[in-house]
Amino acid sequence: MGADLERVLISAEEIDHRLAEIAAQIDKDYEGKHVLLVGVLKGAVMVMADLSRKLKMDAEIDWMAVSSYGSGTKSSGVVRIIKDLDRDLTGLDVLVVEDIIDSGLTLSWLVENLRSRGPASVEIAALLRKPSEEKVHVDVRYIGFDIPGEFVVGYGLDYGQRFRTLPFVGTLAPHVYQ
Ligand code: IMP
Ligand code: MG
Repeated sequence: MGADLERVLISAEEIDHRLAEIAAQIDKDYEGKHVLLVGVLKGAVMVMADLSRKLKMDAEIDWMAVSSYGSGTKSSGVVRIIKDLDRDLTGLDVLVVEDIIDSGLTLSWLVENLRSRGPASVEIAALLRKPSEEKVHVDVRYIGFDIPGEFVVGYGLDYGQRFRTLPFVGTLAPHVYQ
């Protein structure tokens, strides 16, 4: 796997430290509220596991699977629900936990979809964001790191289903996707 990676962009320690800061902020902002963390499969699995374990408050976890990508590296803008939530959202404070915001197409669609279900609120926590790739603006309440517009892998993020298990976020060597 090592030869397919170019460099480490964000180390495991940096991720851990930033998630602790975000978790502390979430605990403060949602004091006394009933929060449902909604993870977007499969990329957000690592962020969800690490962020949720740093929260002091009790929160529910549920998952959605949506597809906006083929096996390539660009968003299609067409979002399809592959797995929906198990519960209804009436009156809940929903916090969507995402790995990365690239074009913003997936999340802007998802947030609209969730808002139509009658929750008390819908906010977003995303580990990574690529500001240079934004096609639609998405209001993100909690953001880990803004990164350059390069394709990244690791810590849940894949390229053709590979590299998700890396403990850090790294860039791919060009020969992998050329
Ligand atoms: P968007 O709709 O363009 O914002 O893309 C959102 C989804 O595309 C993310 O949730 C990821 O699953 C995937 N994605 C976007 N950029 C990357 C990347 O650099 N590496 C791996 N997956 C990515
Ligand atoms: Mg994702």
